[in-house]
Amino acid sequence: MQVTAGKIVVLGTGGTIAGRAASAADNVGYRAGEVAVDELLRGLPVPPGTRLHAEQVAQIDSKDMDFAVWATLAGRCAHWLAQDDVAGIVVTHGTDTMEETAYFLHCVLGPAKPVVLTGAMRPATSAAPDGPQNLADAIAVAADPQARGTCVVFAGTVHGAPDVQKVHSYRIDAFSSGDAGPLAYVEEGRLRVLRAWPGADSRAVPTLPRPAGWPRVEIVMNHAGAGRAIVDALVRDGVAGLVVAGTGNGTVNHALEAGLLEAQQHGVAVRRASRCAQGRVLPSPADRLPAAVGLSPVKARIALMLELMP
Ligand code: ASP
Repeated sequence: MQVTAGKIVVLGTGGTIAGRAASAADNVGYRAGEVAVDELLRGLPVPPGTRLHAEQVAQIDSKDMDFAVWATLAGRCAHWLAQDDVAGIVVTHGTDTMEETAYFLHCVLGPAKPVVLTGAMRPATSAAPDGPQNLADAIAVAADPQARGTCVVFAGTVHGAPDVQKVHSYRIDAFSSGDAGPLAYVEEGRLRVLRAWPGADSRAVPTLPRPAGWPRVEIVMNHAGAGRAIVDALVRDGVAGLVVAGTGNGTVNHALEAGLLEAQQHGVAVRRASRCAQGRVLPSPADRLPAAVGLSPVKARIALMLELMP
């Protein structure tokens, strides 16, 4: 690995990596988002010539991630990415919505420099925490000239933002890139690149409206016996967009489909994703509800929200 000297900015948002439990033996009964980001960095190995700058952007459990934090985070990333001496950014984040934040930043920033999200499955107070290694790996990736764009580094694996999903509720290796496979592994601070990294288009600083004005897009699910009542209620409530987490290849039962078609006729944007953990919805010319190709329901929601943004 060739390491360039540069500043890596570490933005803390909370999560289990910053979690505190009453006992070192407790890996589940902790409070997320308690330990400050500069404390997480103390004593970590960093690549030679790398300087770290830490900033606490939020201190939350990522199940509570919201538009206000996303807007602030995107703004801070854009600010730091524009500095010539900054080689990359690391974002510490809870695992629960990490894939959503990664995809959101990927869409709004399209960064050429690396923006690397990481977290932990065990709290900082654990007898055997995974956070320090994940954070050291994330810094190594952010400092590596081969890395670019938004990715998640977890358990020694680098996942691209469009593909990454949390697939396990407890295991240390909780993330997967599904069919696409990971981008790279991190081994002793070195990157072993497995496939071409997605291109970056370095968009201008995002001109996002104020979070209160972001379009409301909700997710509904197809399942045995699914009806249209939830769709009807959401349309009455003024929803701007709906993503249906369909079964299999984005299939939707008759009653739910009738509700979604009617919603579409009334101006609500509808996209069809799949509740399957792997694979993608393959569109067909006969589709009456457009497919969100290659996106999980939560990412299809972000894509639609950004599409509908004024
Ligand atoms: N609930 C935690 C969070 O998402 C879980 C974690 O970080 O692993 O912040």
